[in-house]
Parts: sequence; structure tokens; C-alpha cells
Amino acid sequence: MDKEKIKMKNILVILLLLVFTSMNFGQVKVVATTSVIYDLVKEIGKDKVEADYICRGDQDPHYVEILPSYMLKLRKAELFFKIGLGLEIWAQQLIDGSRNDNLKIIDLSNGIEKKEIPAGKVDASQGDIHPYGNPHYWLDPYNAKIMAAEILEALLAKSPENSEYFKKNYQNYISTLDKKLIEWNSKMKKAEGRSIVFFHASWIYFAERYGLKISGYVEPKPGIPPTPSHNAELYNIIKKSGANVIVMENYYSDKAPNQIASQTGIKVIKVPIAVFGMEGIDSYIKMMDYIINNISGNL
Ligand SMILES: [Zn+2]
Repeated sequence: MDKEKIKMKNILVILLLLVFTSMNFGQVKVVATTSVIYDLVKEIGKDKVEADYICRGDQDPHYVEILPSYMLKLRKAELFFKIGLGLEIWAQQLIDGSRNDNLKIIDLSNGIEKKEIPAGKVDASQGDIHPYGNPHYWLDPYNAKIMAAEILEALLAKSPENSEYFKKNYQNYISTLDKKLIEWNSKMKKAEGRSIVFFHASWIYFAERYGLKISGYVEPKPGIPPTPSHNAELYNIIKKSGANVIVMENYYSDKAPNQIASQTGIKVIKVPIAVFGMEGIDSYIKMMDYIINNISGNL
């Protein structure tokens, strides 16, 4: 063979390799709105899923700016998982923009026992961004089990040929999670009955799970930034309740919490509430470890 033929042959081999690797045989294509869902999908699907997520771990999930690349991700996806309860007000625009008729949308709030569902209709002009109930249910680790079961079901339906594989991964993950639940319960035992101020109303599921009292929030209403008059109210609440920590999601500005701290001596604790929300936090379990160690260690 002359040099030209060898060159052509090499190019052909490379092209074929490229085609094969881009086909991802047998993988279910998944996009999740948040990195917590993404992590659970990866735990169950492992190398039989090609997974991606939209909201960065250090980003407020209520407000995500739509980029054309997000719609492209959805165009190629088969399953789209979301937290629901209005957390991702931006999701519908993504779904519409993807023009993917084969996309199956799974709302993980379906199986969750929802909290703080408003009795009447919420007036949007008040700015409350939890109009359908509190969407931050993933912060109760018992709810992660419900989410995982829902994810398993969706993967089984999409790819029955991998059912044994998905079920085995799910069982392994649940037994790891069960061990962590025992550890977390014992760490949070001493926090029972303690009062905490939180920044945003992300914490009702977590607080009720571990018997914490929520003294107040730095935000006057979910989604409404701190105000001097509300801060002043908080000074009194902190004195009365004896709360000694403000726990805040690490994507908010700590200006108001620090001001309150300098007035009252309360301690400010910043935590990630998503996977990849902080360096080293690359799984749901590590995220919960971080939250629980920092809260139980600072009360
Ligand atoms: Zn919220």
C-alpha cells in the first residue's frame, strides 16, 4: 500500500471510532434540573446512563438563566427529572425550547409528603417563590430514598434490559444511605429542640426530621431580600428564642447575616444545599454530611 492509501485508511478508522463513541450504546440519556437529582441518577444508572444537569451546585435553583446550550441538552435527552413544586419556574421554557417530543418528564415531588402548602391562593405580587408548597424536600435525607425509588422506576421503564443492573445499584445505594441515616440521626440527636435562624425557607423538611425549631428567616418572605426592618425584628427573635446560629445557603450574600451576627453575637454557618455546591462536595451523601456536621457541631 502506498502512503496515501495508509493515510486514508487511518482517517477511516478514526472516523468510525468517533461515530461509535458518540453513539453510547444502551445508555439512557438523562437530564436533571439539579445536581442532587443528577447524583442519585448516577448512583442508580452508573455507566448505563448518560446524565447531565442544569442548575450549578452553587447557584440558586429558583433563578436559572436559560442558555441555548441547556435546550440542546434537553433535545438529546430521553428523561428529564425535576424537583417540582414550582422550584424550577424556568424548566417549562427549557422543555418548550428543546422541541423534543420524546422527552419524558418526571416530577420527583409526586411521592413526597409536601409541607407548607398555602391554604389559599398565593398572590404572586407578594413575591413568595413557594406558591405550591415548600419545594426543598431533598434536605430531609429520608426523602432521598423516595426520590431514588422514583428514579429507579423511570430507568426501569426506559431500559428494561438493564433492570437487574439498576435494581442492584439502587439496593446498594439504599443500604449505604440507610447506614448514613443512622449516623445522621445520632449526630442530630443533641440538636433536638434547638432554635435556629435560617436564611431562606429551605429547611422545613430538615428541621421537622430532626426536631429543630425554626426561629425565623433572614428573608422576610421566600425570595424577598433582607430588609433593615425585618433584620430589627430578627434581633428580638434571636434574643427571645436563644438561637445561636444562622444557617445560610452558600449562594446568598452573607451581608445581612453578618450584620445580624455583629449585633447579636449569633454565628453564621454557610452550607451548600446542592451537590458540587462547594469544593469536595461531590455527592448527596457528602453534602448531607457537611450540613449535619456543621449544624450539629456548632449548636
Ligand atoms: Zn425556596
